[in-house]
Amino acid sequence: AATLGLDWALDWLHRAGAVLAEQRMALIELDRVIGDADHGENMERGFTAALAKLEAAPPATPGAALKSVAMTLMSTVGGAAGPLYGTAFLRAATALGDAEELDDAALLAMLTAARDGIVARGKADPGDKTMIDAWTPAVDAAGAAVGQGPAAVLRAAADAAALGAEATEPLVARKGRASYLGERSAGHRDPGAQSTSFILRAAADAAGN
Ligand code: ADP
Ligand code: MG
Ligand code: MG
Repeated sequence: AATLGLDWALDWLHRAGAVLAEQRMALIELDRVIGDADHGENMERGFTAALAKLEAAPPATPGAALKSVAMTLMSTVGGAAGPLYGTAFLRAATALGDAEELDDAALLAMLTAARDGIVARGKADPGDKTMIDAWTPAVDAAGAAVGQGPAAVLRAAADAAALGAEATEPLVARKGRASYLGERSAGHRDPGAQSTSFILRAAADAAGN
């Protein structure tokens, strides 16, 4: 398809909820090593609540779906990830406005706004070993794929996010809880970068990749 609509957005969010539930323990394990072992629980709780809200109050557009998720994440997910992902989804929703069909450029604008929102909120630079290290390569790769169709744009973003998450392993954390460990944070993957990779893979899968 040349564009993606509300069905895609809802499928994305359901797939994201499913993978975060399935990977709950894996994310908890990553966060146990360099954090406080709650990232998997935070994300599963947030997405379970977000999906329930979408069911209770069905959105009319992709942007409305993302805005609903943003509000639920901000109110149900504590810690660092709640406000960061909440801001990401809220900015993404604003970028989409009331558009019903999303083309390559709209998807790039959505991903860019999400990443920029996380940076505005958390002030992380690339290389600080945070979720930004998955989002930023994803945005860059999506930009390079514009013109190839929505599924290709989202696949490029998901592939780059997966590599970005893997590439956090040798880094020393400079933001968030993991930064308290200093050099000892090196050698372990950042949990938020991994959850970003799961969420963006879900977006690509929902587009038919
Ligand atoms: P908490 O650290 O409060 O327990 P979570 O465990 O849910 O929250 O989320 C931790 C993740 O949040 C980290 O793995 C990292 O990716 C992300 N994170 C933390 N601080 C920042 C920040 N300032 N900017 C971007 N991402 C951050
Ligand atoms: Mg944590
Ligand atoms: Mg915590």
